[in-house]
Amino acid sequence: YKHLEKTDPEIYSLVQKETERQQSHIELIASENFVSYAVMEAMGSPLTNKYAEGLPGARYYGGCQVVDEVEQLAIDRFKALYGADHANVQPHSGANANMAVYLGLLKPGDRILGMNLSQGGHLSHGSPVNISGKYFDIVDYGVDEKTGRIDYDAFEAAVKEYKPKLVIGGASAYPRKIDFKRMAEVVKASGAYFMVDMAHIAGLVATGYHENPVPYADVVTTTTHKTLRGPRGGAILCTEELHKTIDKAVFPGLQGGPLEHVIAAKAVAFHEAAQPDFKVYCKQIIDNAKAMEKVFLEQGVDLVSGGTDNHLLLLDLRSLKLTGKEAEKMLNDSGLATNKNMIPYDPESPMVTSGIRIGTPAMTTLGAKEEDAAYVAQIMVDLLKKEITEDQAKDRVRIFCEKFPLYK
Ligand code: PLP
Repeated sequence: YKHLEKTDPEIYSLVQKETERQQSHIELIASENFVSYAVMEAMGSPLTNKYAEGLPGARYYGGCQVVDEVEQLAIDRFKALYGADHANVQPHSGANANMAVYLGLLKPGDRILGMNLSQGGHLSHGSPVNISGKYFDIVDYGVDEKTGRIDYDAFEAAVKEYKPKLVIGGASAYPRKIDFKRMAEVVKASGAYFMVDMAHIAGLVATGYHENPVPYADVVTTTTHKTLRGPRGGAILCTEELHKTIDKAVFPGLQGGPLEHVIAAKAVAFHEAAQPDFKVYCKQIIDNAKAMEKVFLEQGVDLVSGGTDNHLLLLDLRSLKLTGKEAEKMLNDSGLATNKNMIPYDPESPMVTSGIRIGTPAMTTLGAKEEDAAYVAQIMVDLLKKEITEDQAKDRVRIFCEKFPLYK
C-alpha cells in the first residue's frame, strides 16, 4: 500500500488497523470470509475506472471491449458453476440482487411470502424497515418451535392461504439443509414465482454439499462474499424465460454503471470455486461446524435445531442465563468475532436477543481442521460458562491466530 500510505496516511493507518484486527481475532461471523490475494488484486485494479452501463456487447459507453470480456467470463463461469441458463453478475450486493428480482417480477403492493426475519430470514426478504417490507405485502413462514426446522407443512398451508405472487426460499441464520425441491413443488402448484436466496450457502451449493436450487427455482440470488469466498457483491441466476426481465431490472431498473473491478474479482472467485481444492475446503467447513457442534452439545450448550448440517451454528443461550448481547460482548472482548442473533420465538428484543450465530467459513480458509474448530468451541464454552477469565481466553485466541496467520 505504498501509494496509499503517502497520499492518505489516515486511511492507510486505518487499513493497517483493520488488517491487524482481522489477524488478531478468530473470525466466527457466519457471513464473513477471507478472500484470496488474486480476488483482492482484481478488485484493486484499473477496471474501477471504466463505465460500462449495459451488458457485454451492448453498452452505452465506448471502450468497453475489454471489460466486455471480463464480464462475459464472469457470466460464463457463474452459469457453469451452478448449471444455470442465464446469469447477471452486476448487482452491487445481495440486497440489490433481491431488489432487482422484486422490481422485475412484481408490482408495488404484490404479495411476497418469505422466511420470518426472527426465525432465520433476511432483512431484504420483507422486513418492515426494508424497502421489501415497505413496497410489498409481506407474509411469512418459519420454523417449528420444537424442532427449530422449517415446518414444510405450515409452509405449504401458507402458500395455499396467502396466494403470494413470489415465494422466497433461503435464509441468513438457518443451520440446516433446505429442501428446495419440496418447496418448489408447492410453489409451482400455486402458480407463484419461486426465488431462492442462496447467499449463505453458495459455496456449499457450488461444491455439491447442499442441494442446488437452480433446477427448481425461477430465480436464484446470492452474495458472492460468504461461503463462495469472493468479493463483496451480489449476483443472479435465472431461467431463459426471465432473462430479459431480470437484466432490465438490474440495469436500468435499479443500478447505473456496473463495478467491473468487482465483477473481475467475482470471475476470479468463480474460477477458484470450480477448482478441486474448493470442494475440499467446503467439506472442511461442514466438518469443522460438526466438530464445534460436538463440543457444544457434550457440554450442555443448546443449539437451535439441535445442531448443524452446514457452515453455521445458532447457540441458544437461555440455559446459560446470558443474552446474545452480553455473550457477543464477552466473546468479542476476548478476540472471538461473533454476532448476536435472534433465536426462533425469541423472548428478547432484536437488540438484545437470546442467541449467538457462528460460522466456520473464515477459520476454514485459514486452514483450521476439526481439532482447531473444537479448540475454538472450547474457548467459547469456557468463557460463556465463566470458567476462564477474559485474559485466559485471549491467550488461547492468540495461540490460534499464531497457528493460522492471515495475509502474512
Ligand atoms: N441475502 C441473505 C440470505 C443474506 O444473508 C444477506 C446478508 O447477510 C443478504 C442477502 C444481503 O447481502 P448484502 O449485505 O450484500 O446486501
